[in-house]
Amino acid sequence: MSTLGHFIDGKLLVFEDDRMGEVFDPALGSVSSHVALASKKTVNEVVEVAQRAFEEWSNSSLSQRTKVLFAFRELVNRRADDIAALITSEHGKVLSDARGEVQRGLEVVEFACGIPQLLKGDFSSQVSTAVDVYSFREPLGVCVGITPFNFPAMVPMWMFPVAIACGNSFILKPSEKDPSASLLIAQLWQEAGLPDGVFNVLNGDQEAVNALLDHPDVAAVSFVGSTPIAKYIYERASQNSKRVQALGGAKNHAIILEDADLDFVTENLTAAAFGSAGERCMAISAAIAVGDRVNDIGKMVAERASKIKVGSGTISDVEMGPVITGQSKSRIEDLITKGVDQGASALIDGRNYKVPGYEGGFFVGPTVVDEVTVEMDVYREEIFGPVLSVLHVNDVDSAIAMINANPYGNGTAIFTGSGDAARRFSRGVKVGMIGINVPIPVPMAYYSFGGWKNSLFGQSHIHGPEGVAFYTRAKVVTQRWFASHIGERASLSFPTAK
Ligand code: NAD
Repeated sequence: MSTLGHFIDGKLLVFEDDRMGEVFDPALGSVSSHVALASKKTVNEVVEVAQRAFEEWSNSSLSQRTKVLFAFRELVNRRADDIAALITSEHGKVLSDARGEVQRGLEVVEFACGIPQLLKGDFSSQVSTAVDVYSFREPLGVCVGITPFNFPAMVPMWMFPVAIACGNSFILKPSEKDPSASLLIAQLWQEAGLPDGVFNVLNGDQEAVNALLDHPDVAAVSFVGSTPIAKYIYERASQNSKRVQALGGAKNHAIILEDADLDFVTENLTAAAFGSAGERCMAISAAIAVGDRVNDIGKMVAERASKIKVGSGTISDVEMGPVITGQSKSRIEDLITKGVDQGASALIDGRNYKVPGYEGGFFVGPTVVDEVTVEMDVYREEIFGPVLSVLHVNDVDSAIAMINANPYGNGTAIFTGSGDAARRFSRGVKVGMIGINVPIPVPMAYYSFGGWKNSLFGQSHIHGPEGVAFYTRAKVVTQRWFASHIGERASLSFPTAK
């Protein structure tokens, strides 16, 4: 059985004092490899490497950086199927879905290829006599990314293409549940010509994360994961005076109004709830039916969901794979049980789901629970599995109020034919990313991604323009050049323009 190490200073390494974790094939439910879990000593070493690499990389020209980024883009594109295969083998999602996440990550690389344009400063000529002002942005230093299991390629790619394009060095601490995609990506950076030490992969768990958060030479931390850990990362990194953005969990609602096309809604809700077995931070996990005409939406989705082919993500006609671990499967099934015990009705029930030939796999079948209320655990908890809760209200304002009372604010969607209702909804909800007849409104790479409330701690959303701002800091230069200054007297009062 293979051991997955770290990628530090251009080399794949395992250290004597690493502890070992287990990586599973979730479709089989068995251990497929071991992963090294870094000690504090290794963290000190990788930060030293990244700090040294930063000195050189931050002084590289914009055209050098752009050349590396374009080469990296080509390599990721060429090896996309290999990256997707690694994702499927450790995460379990189907290959076409894994390929889709690589594509969305690539779009951030393409955005970062435009870094010469993105880093242009401002210039004001003659703000005072013979005085000009200009501004530019400089990289921060060693930046760290701590990422979740559910998008092992895309979420890291929300971070490092922009950080590196801006002239920083980067340490990626991927999820210990599916680290292989990151290690392949590190080799592609090297092949693309990125100097060793600029991009490093450090495998590990809480011990490595804490050492990174406390290290004085780490300048900035980007985190994506569950809300309790996001809050913890935000607080600890902030206490250590680091720049930090920490994206947390979600409970994404879709509102269905009576004027929506219900066949379209059924198809799209099914895809948004059960794609990637519901393990997406933008998955729809709560559908709010508004009015009598929409009463049966739960039944329609349950009927459609019963036709979803569930199995190993490696098989070409399979549409939904397993969940990530045995603990996840138990947690999701317990929440379905609680929902039913608390009065919800399971229209399709994915508990105890078995896939022939994969009896040990971590499978949960598509589940729709109807007549859910906001007091029930199945609504209050982030399930992060293939479970759609259906709630019923009488009008759109009650639906908006329900969304706003929820502690999360990542994504939300409305299905309607009314521009007025859609506009009221998009202005009224306290949520960062909004879809109008689009159930999973993940912003394109040239916009920024981020939620509100318990879905994001910190000021900056990720990638896009806010990503460039996060990974750089500004300098403003006021300069005076003139032919001769003989006879000029300086005033001791505060400078004003002349
Ligand atoms: P997680 O919070 O368990 O882990 C995320 C990262 O934090 C991992 O790298 C992990 O090693 C590390 N970590 C875990 N526990 C830690 C601890 N006690 N101290 C320090 N570090 C720790 O999340 P997950 O289960 O890997 O991912 C699923 C979660 O991520 C869901 O809640 C999902 O909504 C969220 N998510 C959010 C977004 C978003 O954009 N807001 C995107 C993807 C996933």
